[in-house]
Amino acid sequence: MERIQLGNTVFEGANNVYLLDGPTTALLDTGVAMAGVRDELQSGLADHGVEFGDVDEVVLTHWHPDHAGLAGEIQEASGADVFVHEADAPIVDGRVQPLMENPELQRETLDEWGLPDEKRKELADFFASVGAELSGPHAEVTEISDGDALTVGGVTLEAVHLPGHTAGLTGFAFDVNEIQADGPSATGDSGDDTDTSDAAPEGLFSGDVILPKYTPNVGGADVRVDDPLAAYTQSLVRVIERDFSVTYPGHRDRIDKTSLRAATILEHHRTRTKRVIDVLDKLGSATPWEVSAELFGSLSEIHILHGPGEAFAHLDHLASARVVERDGSRYQRIDADVDIDSLFPTTSMDQQL
Ligand SMILES: [Zn+2]
Ligand SMILES: [Zn+2]
Repeated sequence: MERIQLGNTVFEGANNVYLLDGPTTALLDTGVAMAGVRDELQSGLADHGVEFGDVDEVVLTHWHPDHAGLAGEIQEASGADVFVHEADAPIVDGRVQPLMENPELQRETLDEWGLPDEKRKELADFFASVGAELSGPHAEVTEISDGDALTVGGVTLEAVHLPGHTAGLTGFAFDVNEIQADGPSATGDSGDDTDTSDAAPEGLFSGDVILPKYTPNVGGADVRVDDPLAAYTQSLVRVIERDFSVTYPGHRDRIDKTSLRAATILEHHRTRTKRVIDVLDKLGSATPWEVSAELFGSLSEIHILHGPGEAFAHLDHLASARVVERDGSRYQRIDADVDIDSLFPTTSMDQQL
């Protein structure tokens, strides 16, 4: 397995494409459809003697353009099969428009979040400046579901549906005897955990479920997800329970302590929910935009979408638990003495944080 790292200044940075070159040639994710990134992918593949036309299978972790953007072009060049989870498939093949390409959904969502007019304009200008070429041509896709086994590039990948960041986000588990560690790790350690289970150690291609540096956005990155924070924290629990020995994320370097990283992100959301409650106590009532302004300060570019989206995810989760009440776009606390920790799953990793 070879990792090809692509520049990308629009999303989380340093996108990874993984090349599995065996009896067939497979790519895991593709990068955003911008000219410079396309050149980087083509020259990265050429280093291993591969051209777009040689690709037999493209496996996508999720619909975001920094992962799926070049899939359509690669398919045009090669006739490759493009695999993506059934929940994200309609965006990749063009049956459904994502938020920024759907004016009605956009207006509805940004109303719900209480986004001020000048920020809507700034967001629209940002997408107008980068958006047109991000997604590339649509691909014809083969839909996959949780538990499906794909044999691509000579290895078997198990689809593990891990929704939250997007509705269809899917990680791919593999036997580490089939795919060896490659490239530097994010933590610099060599993964010296002793493996106590009898099963063959498993690795994970995680897409944006867990990332080594940033916490993946929840709420703003795919507005189709119901109670996105609950979906996402359950996905983190699932990652922790599988006890993966290594993770190859969608951005940046390899993660050797997967469960610890997932538990750290889970803890980050517990803490953030407490901060959201503090903001509501301070302001009395607030919109997701007002909460995000308190949490994150001034927001620009993609963060105009991700900031209030994430605040919305937390408020929505609190509303489901009847801790806060929603009135239009405003939220107000109704339960004065809730134990916030009880709103989040506990895992075997908690005492190790
Ligand atoms: Zn993403
Ligand atoms: Zn990403």
